Amino acid sequence: MLKKKINSKKNSRKNPICFDNSFVQLGEKFYAKLNPTPVEQPEIVKLNEELANNLGIDLEMLDLEDWASIFSGNRILPGAEPLAMVYAGHQFGHFVPQLGDGRAILLGEVIDNSSIRNDIQLKGSGITPFSRQGDGRAALGPVLREYIVSEAMHALGIPTTRSLCAVTTGEPVYRETVLPGAVLTRVASGHVRTGTFQYFALRGEEKAITQLVNYVIDRHYPEVKEAPNTYLKLLEKVMDRHARLVAQWLHVGFIHGVMNTDNMALSGETIDYGPCAFMDTFNRSQVFSSIDHSGRYSYGNQPQIVQWNLARLAETILPLIDKKQESAVEMAKEVIELYSERFKEYWLSGMRQKLGLLTSEPEDENLIQSLLNTMHENEADFTLTFRRLCDAVFDRKMDRNLRNLFKDAAAYDKWSKSWRSRLSRESVSTEERTKLMRKVNPAVIPRNHRVEQALNAAVENLDYSPFEKLVEVLSFPYEELEGQSEFMQPPKPGEHVLETFCGT
Ligand code: AMP
Ligand code: MG
Repeated sequence: MLKKKINSKKNSRKNPICFDNSFVQLGEKFYAKLNPTPVEQPEIVKLNEELANNLGIDLEMLDLEDWASIFSGNRILPGAEPLAMVYAGHQFGHFVPQLGDGRAILLGEVIDNSSIRNDIQLKGSGITPFSRQGDGRAALGPVLREYIVSEAMHALGIPTTRSLCAVTTGEPVYRETVLPGAVLTRVASGHVRTGTFQYFALRGEEKAITQLVNYVIDRHYPEVKEAPNTYLKLLEKVMDRHARLVAQWLHVGFIHGVMNTDNMALSGETIDYGPCAFMDTFNRSQVFSSIDHSGRYSYGNQPQIVQWNLARLAETILPLIDKKQESAVEMAKEVIELYSERFKEYWLSGMRQKLGLLTSEPEDENLIQSLLNTMHENEADFTLTFRRLCDAVFDRKMDRNLRNLFKDAAAYDKWSKSWRSRLSRESVSTEERTKLMRKVNPAVIPRNHRVEQALNAAVENLDYSPFEKLVEVLSFPYEELEGQSEFMQPPKPGEHVLETFCGT
């Protein structure tokens, strides 16, 4: 637990969090207004002071006990207007007509130091009208997992929701076993999802859809207002952000795990860290989620699933794109088809950077695929392979550290010959190339076994030090800091985590 007390100035000149709420103005069709259910004994496990500062939250105005009570939902600050958002969604391909925030409550919005509007949401805050059979709560393990992974994604430079605070509740939650309860304060640039559109489309609520679309445009894509067909342009912009996002996931070996349409945010941020994981050994069909039996959301399927989800979004706004259904479908289809090309561009450009290539040649894609195939066949570690390529560019002798990542070292030698001959056609200095490569090939990622160790220590022994250390190391993913080499290592035999759980 956090011991340090934040100086209490008890400054009454302004509110500690300056809420400025916009979603609530859409009207009661879009949410249910309610307060979080109080918890017994809230205690702060982790407070993200840097993020709080960026959000203009004045931590010094209150002491830690007050913040624990705020970020558990026990105390509602002036300006907050708590609500649970309604949405629907395709879960594993099956449409569920009503989901909604079943265990989350949006406290309100704040404008950050870069003038961006952010949602402040409590996750694990108690039952809502959308809880269905659930208890509205979250267990400590999944809360810490989301904290670790979302903050790691942020440090990697990937659009994501962030974690402001993790609080234990002092109450048990009942899953397969009895677990300590917790609440996560999640910060997102917006929580409207594809599933939010689906909810209203299903009900034929055209006015609500229009309101929602315009809300999303104002908040995330104001530039499309200038376009001849605003709503078509919006679809293209959302498509573009998602194409880029999923390419970025692939570049770091991230597997989301539950890419249901209710987990795809219109803001283009990674959202909903459930059974997500980073892969160690490269395998295109890697799945970790215990509920993903068919591999629908496997590493290599993610780009196609994003396209499928985008098509579901497009369906909901067809009447806005064109009054004539046929032409609306034609136009939307074109955008959705453009996705494959757009994704490929983002993916290729990132992969070129990972290999140290500054120019484009038509054969580059083959070179990249051939490395990935060799890694797959030889069970090479994804993150280490790319990181060590940075060293191999700098000093050819370092090839020896790469070779031994491949079951058949000769397979690497064969590939590296074509790579080196490609590199030799560019006139950049070795130093410069190494520097650039180290900026895109992380040294540390939230390896599953490390995440698991941190969660187990916290949940079983109330020892938060592995969690703290992991969060710290992951905040500089592109650096190889002294004494942290253990965090770069793949799991040893027996340390492998093969399955992850939603924890709901
Ligand atoms: P997720 O898998 O976290 O995206 O959740 C899917 C849906 O289930 C959302 O509507 C959640 O609000 C709801 N849900 C998940 N866990 C719980 C829970 N413990 N209690 C109530 N609703 C939940
Ligand atoms: Mg969700």
